[in-house]
Amino acid sequence: MKIGSYQLIPVETCSFKLDGGAMFGVVPKIFWEKTNPPDEQNRILLHARCLLLNSPGRKILIDTGVGSNWSEKFAGIYCIDNSQFSMEKSLSQNGVNPEDITDVIITHLHFDHTGGATKLVDGQWQPSFPNATYYIQKKQYDWAMNPSLRDKASYYKERYKPLADRNMVVFTEGNQKLIEGIEVVEINGHTFGQQLVKISDSDTTLLYCADLIPFTSHIPLPYIMGYDLQPLVTLKEKIDILNQAVEENWTLFFEHDPYSAAATLERNEKGAIVIREKFEKLP
Ligand SMILES: [Zn+2]
Repeated sequence: MKIGSYQLIPVETCSFKLDGGAMFGVVPKIFWEKTNPPDEQNRILLHARCLLLNSPGRKILIDTGVGSNWSEKFAGIYCIDNSQFSMEKSLSQNGVNPEDITDVIITHLHFDHTGGATKLVDGQWQPSFPNATYYIQKKQYDWAMNPSLRDKASYYKERYKPLADRNMVVFTEGNQKLIEGIEVVEINGHTFGQQLVKISDSDTTLLYCADLIPFTSHIPLPYIMGYDLQPLVTLKEKIDILNQAVEENWTLFFEHDPYSAAATLERNEKGAIVIREKFEKLP
């Protein structure tokens, strides 16, 4: 898929698992288990699928996956599996080295989005993309430096604070045009200051949905993660964004769906927004 001067390339970094109940909030298992079958521990499969925007002048990465150097216990709880793919492998299959990345847009600082932003070298956390500018919402960074007891298990400061300490971060505030053809959209239901990424030219738009809509199975409005700090805000944000997506014929990109990377939408005869077409890779 090409938008403007960018070639859009999904970058698979790993698979992992989270509790199915937590991924679907108030929705009963009897519904979600059909699309996302759980293992014997009630965990369901997720991918950490980043997106590379490759143009002659820039190589922009959206999110960085779970990363490496987790304890055995942590990797076991979340079933972190790099055997099929990794950031390095996926980039090199596309002829890209970590040093070539010019910009990294971090949607938010939960470990499954930012764990790969740094890597452990001789006991020190160093930027994984040493020549990149990292973009993080200021509101999210401030929250992540001092999260609540409810969500602090999702944040590992040692993996992102070194970026700010080295002045590699440009802090974004709200909706902002970042680079030609690329905008960030601030949303606040999942956490404070998550930024989705909208890539568009005169006729095509793709939205990187991050944790507003992690799977295709989260399209129906009540399917909202139990992790969200403000689920009613998520509901409103989903309504606004899905309406705009269907009206303007956007393609949605799913970071965590293990079965589909993208989808287009339509309105059914009852007026509900549903999937028109799913894509395992990008069209
Ligand atoms: Zn996530």
